[in-house]
Amino acid sequence: MADQAFVTLATTDSYARGAMVLGKSLRNNDTSKKMVVLIGPNVSEPCQSALRRIYDDVMVVNVLDSGDTAHLALLQRPELGVTLTKLHCWTLTQFSKCVFMDADTLVLSNIDELFDREELSAAPDPGWPDCFNSGVFVFRPSVDTYDKLLQYCTEKGSFDGGDQGVLNGFFSNWATADISKHLPFIYNLSSIAIYTYLPAFKQFGSGAKVVHFLGQTKPWSYTFDPHTKQISGGVQDAPTHPAFLLDWWTLYASTVVPVLQEQYGDEPFVSGCLESQESDPTVTTETVQEESSTSHASVEPEMSSEQRKEQWEQGQADYMGMDSFDNIKRKLDTFLK
Ligand code: UDP
Ligand code: MN
Repeated sequence: MADQAFVTLATTDSYARGAMVLGKSLRNNDTSKKMVVLIGPNVSEPCQSALRRIYDDVMVVNVLDSGDTAHLALLQRPELGVTLTKLHCWTLTQFSKCVFMDADTLVLSNIDELFDREELSAAPDPGWPDCFNSGVFVFRPSVDTYDKLLQYCTEKGSFDGGDQGVLNGFFSNWATADISKHLPFIYNLSSIAIYTYLPAFKQFGSGAKVVHFLGQTKPWSYTFDPHTKQISGGVQDAPTHPAFLLDWWTLYASTVVPVLQEQYGDEPFVSGCLESQESDPTVTTETVQEESSTSHASVEPEMSSEQRKEQWEQGQADYMGMDSFDNIKRKLDTFLK
């Protein structure tokens, strides 16, 4: 339906890459809904173009420029910058109903049935199940609700410093009022839950429809070796659920990198979207340095960039050779240093 949309948010190039993977995962699972991404003004032009190739609508939200109550709220609560940007999703009144999804989520099967739910439907947060997790939620755009949310932000702020605190404060009867607004956990399966309740994950995990890479370490904080299928790096010693991380990286390498390459033409095809990682605290440089000291095959293309582009477009990336992850990563390293 044209008046229903999935909505996500990216204020940096790193989160934009997450949004690209999310968008591809929604499309690959044949969503019939519109797809919208809200972006902050700092997302680079190539990343914006890549997002435009994947999403129906890319909307720049600049809370500082907005000159309205959001700006006023920001002046009073400067710590809520990203949160206030996220709340802008309530202004998308061209849609009657939307599903918001964090940029660090990945869709594993069609989830259009979420649009049968009402505002505010969400899954429990694994850390405090009487709160909902705000990584996936169903809402109805409304200027009235938006104004009330901003007013709530200004007066009460956020008990956890982010959007989840504001939204749980505002929709405060979620835990008790209406069980139909409790989404099954498989619509927002977070890595944390897997190891806190492994038997439940073994019993129900195969039904997962949305994975949420919640927490400090995001999929893009790791490095990935396509030969060994090994994931390394991040701030933790071992990734919390490597199977889903592998899904993320596989989708990124096979469907997002070609879109990025189109934006760059002859330029290194993944460069621009990593520039902001220099200031991204979730990225560890240790692994990067460690791995870049090992020898790699030449990254120079043996065919013309036009031929190479054609191959990418036909889905024939040379993953074991020229387009190997080592080579891609080496290119990335030059931007990280
Ligand atoms: N986000 C963003 N830029 C930021 C931080 C967050 O665009 O610097 C958006 C993005 O959509 C992200 C969501 O806000 O998925 C919530 O943040 P995050 O996923 O990092 O929180 P967590 O799920 O780990 O609590
Ligand atoms: Mn998240």
